[in-house]
Amino acid sequence: MPEITWALFRQQVAACAMCPLHEGIRNKVPGQGDLNSPLMFIGEGPGQVEDEEGLAFVGPAGQLLTRMLAAISLPRDRVYICNIVKCRPPNNRVPTEEEAAACKLHLRMQTALIRPKVIVLLGSTAAKNTLGPEIRITRDRGRWFERKGVWMMPTYHPSALLRDPAKKREAWEDMQRLRDKLMELGLYNDIYGGSPE
Ligand code: SF4
Repeated sequence: MPEITWALFRQQVAACAMCPLHEGIRNKVPGQGDLNSPLMFIGEGPGQVEDEEGLAFVGPAGQLLTRMLAAISLPRDRVYICNIVKCRPPNNRVPTEEEAAACKLHLRMQTALIRPKVIVLLGSTAAKNTLGPEIRITRDRGRWFERKGVWMMPTYHPSALLRDPAKKREAWEDMQRLRDKLMELGLYNDIYGGSPE
């Protein structure tokens, strides 16, 4: 098996046709951010703006995420952000189980390269595909799950907060839990000292 490198990851995503989602897209959206960050965010899939620009979380939901990070004094360029699927599902529908499973190879590769200590799962699709189908975002958001030494917390996807601003209070509580976990693990200052891509 070849050594996993960022070059191999980018090449594999660029060439991938393992599910039908690549048909009709403008750009694949592998993810971006600080390659040395201990903190990783995983969302669902690219939206329209992300598909146009080839970058994750740059549309309205991404801008809200940036503001949420700023609220706990985390610069967005010090974290790594990606999605469960790297191609935009038509009309922003939820990726099917088969599509998410097909794209998991890429997510595994980038997680192996980043080696995050903390992962925030944005929304139900990211949470179920990472922690298991029994996860319920309304019940389990804000809880910490430890998997092989990595701390993971599901929270609402920012697009859900745009649709239902009443959820913002709970999302803010989750951001505070994230800040507390980073401080508890001694990682908060590491993120300030990271190196943006
Ligand atoms: Fe490949 Fe993932 Fe795109 Fe499907 S969504 S074609 S698995 S890169």
